[in-house]
Amino acid sequence: MSSAQLLLRYQALVDRERALRESIAATEARLESDPAVVEREETLASARTTQDEVAVRLRESDKVREEHRARLSSRQKELMSGRIRNPTELLQMSDEVAHMKARFADEEEAQMRIMEDAEAADESVRSATKELEDARRTSAEEEPGLRTELAEWKTELADLVTDKDAIWAQVPPRDQALFSRIRVRPAIARVSGTECAACHVTITSSGMQILRKGDALVQCENCGRILVAR
Ligand SMILES: [Zn+2]
Repeated sequence: MSSAQLLLRYQALVDRERALRESIAATEARLESDPAVVEREETLASARTTQDEVAVRLRESDKVREEHRARLSSRQKELMSGRIRNPTELLQMSDEVAHMKARFADEEEAQMRIMEDAEAADESVRSATKELEDARRTSAEEEPGLRTELAEWKTELADLVTDKDAIWAQVPPRDQALFSRIRVRPAIARVSGTECAACHVTITSSGMQILRKGDALVQCENCGRILVAR
């Protein structure tokens, strides 16, 4: 195999190695923490916060209503006691009681709405809990398959690194140095007809001659990639 062919093979292994390492990292991250589970945990936490807020509103509303109920009842008793004889005062108190009753009715209605909110909040917590349980189950079911896949990738990676190193060792140091200096990726390109397959610029006739002989590396004059003849 010529240096160029070795480097082409080497480049392919480098690319595969990168893809494998990315897959391994992504799968390890997924096994560490499943985004589908995390998302549902957050939904449940937010549903619980809403539930707590509604519970606070309900308690406050209960307290206020209790106070108003007590005041209304004491006023009504006073009104019925017969102790107040002044007609103007009686009228005033009767107005006040009527006003308190109306306000109390409004508060009852508001209370009903808060209770509806509380029911809705309970339902949200129930459904978010169920969704989280489902997501956790699915995640757990996927885990053995992911672990098998991960083990296969790690084996492939170990073999690949061995192959890659063996191929690299066959490349003469001067050619290794040239390949390492090239910054464009991939650092190597095939020849298509008389063009560089990467940048499509025509290769000089002297370059084509050296390529045909195959005893030295030729770089594309445009993009700098090492060229590999078919
Ligand atoms: Zn080129």
